[in-house]
Amino acid sequence: MLILQMKQFVQKKLYKWSEWTLESKQMYINGKWVPAQSGNIREIINPYNREVVAIVPEADREDVRYAIRSARKAFDRGEWPHTPAADRGKKLFQVAERIDQNNEELARLESLDTGKTLVESRADMEDIANVFRYFAGLADKDGGEAVEPPIPDAVSKVVREPVGVCGMITPWNYPLLQAAWKLAPALAAGCTMVLKPSEITPLTSLKIAELMDEVGFPDGVVNVVTGPGASVGAELSESDQVDLISFTGGIETGKTIMRAAANNVKKIALELGGKNPNVIFADSDFETTVDYALNAVYFHAGQVCSAGARLIVEESLHDQLVEELVKRVKRIKLGNGFDASTQMGPLISEEHRAKVEKYIEIGKKEGARLLIGGKRPEGPEFEKGFFVEPTIFDGCDASMRIVQEETFGPILTIETFRTEEEAVCLANDSIYGLAGAIWTQDLSRAERVSRQLRMGTVWINDFHPYFPQAPWGGYKQSGIGRELGKTGLEEYTEQKHIFHNLNPQPMNWFK
Ligand code: NAD
Repeated sequence: MLILQMKQFVQKKLYKWSEWTLESKQMYINGKWVPAQSGNIREIINPYNREVVAIVPEADREDVRYAIRSARKAFDRGEWPHTPAADRGKKLFQVAERIDQNNEELARLESLDTGKTLVESRADMEDIANVFRYFAGLADKDGGEAVEPPIPDAVSKVVREPVGVCGMITPWNYPLLQAAWKLAPALAAGCTMVLKPSEITPLTSLKIAELMDEVGFPDGVVNVVTGPGASVGAELSESDQVDLISFTGGIETGKTIMRAAANNVKKIALELGGKNPNVIFADSDFETTVDYALNAVYFHAGQVCSAGARLIVEESLHDQLVEELVKRVKRIKLGNGFDASTQMGPLISEEHRAKVEKYIEIGKKEGARLLIGGKRPEGPEFEKGFFVEPTIFDGCDASMRIVQEETFGPILTIETFRTEEEAVCLANDSIYGLAGAIWTQDLSRAERVSRQLRMGTVWINDFHPYFPQAPWGGYKQSGIGRELGKTGLEEYTEQKHIFHNLNPQPMNWFK
């Protein structure tokens, strides 16, 4: 257990990681930097070498209650919900600018915390700045609408108002990106919030609180509390002082949060897992398809909710595709995310690696054919990090757990089909419905199949693109609601109908 007691919390203590030096951090509540009331702290570990890269407060329920009270006060009695939307937008533009100015520091923190390659983290930070820019621009675009009442001498309008105090709970795979998808629209809408990042990857969430502090939001509008899900996350989802909970993470946690949210019937937005099919027809462009199939599954070592971990290929193309995939997987370079030649970093933690390895054993027992990988890489560079080799299982079918369950690691399963109907059937055979792709040069087939797939995003001849302008979210058990796009802002608003009788007269109903 990494939690340490340290009554005298030393704010300025420095921790060194290679050339990179970090300060120990505090939490951001009510516009101030504070330790946990208990004095508890947690060490944050670099998954590449297990070095301690930072120390953060380990909050408990008391700290969250304080943060919720601050957010409540800022919403009920503060100016932020009533600030003109255009001015809220201006603040968000300033946040985007700060993110751009601090791209390198944010990217390094993200890579230290998650083990992902620096080049990936830099791209994440660009995306994050764009998310803030998108919602900054959208903030004042929905001024409500007039509706025609079926009554003479009356006017009706529908306006949108901020939903209130929002609890935000985020995962470790895209720590700041997932937080940005919530923070930016909630701020644009005029909400106040308490963000709880994953307890193992809080660094960029604390850094963005620092940037927001510099930009200057009223006290209590933005609060960031670091601590575990079972106490800090649970308090946020149970609290009757929170109006909405927006959660990104695993399906079982999502169900727990949904039950807790029932306490005060708070609104919920859930972005859960996926087991995303990558459907390849024989007429697809071979070179591009192979290239994208690798990226679909092994990007960020497979720790992506939309990872294309389930390859479904037309039987006639199977042998050629598999041969090429195996050849290229052999060349994937594992290592330190800070090394420019590294293509795949470690998994996030010892615990997560154990889960991924368990799935590899399950796959073998289920009779799937292990073509490559399935073990830890050898060599001194890999001794400390939580590495698993990129892995391919062939001969899979939809009854296997390795095909149905989210392994969240670098594991690709391969199934085959003969007809278009069978391909659609296999792709939809899942409790999840987050995302998926179709590869074909037959445009009418592409259109037809894209409409038959039951998932929130379908890519045709591509994999992974997402951007702030388009909504993101899941069908079926991949979640409830949508982030990004116009809907991403609407999630943080309530609709109010205002009816104005211009000529009120006695009704005499109860004469
Ligand atoms: P997780 O569910 O273990 O944890 C997510 C967050 O929930 C963490 O902050 C954790 O502390 C908190 N939490 C844990 N127990 C809680 C409880 N009882 N009450 C309240 N909060 C609690 O998920 P993870 O392992 O951090 O992330 C991986 C999962 O996230 C995968 O399933 C992945 O598919 C999913 N994910 C989905 C999307 C999406 O857009 N749909 C994006 C990224 C990740």
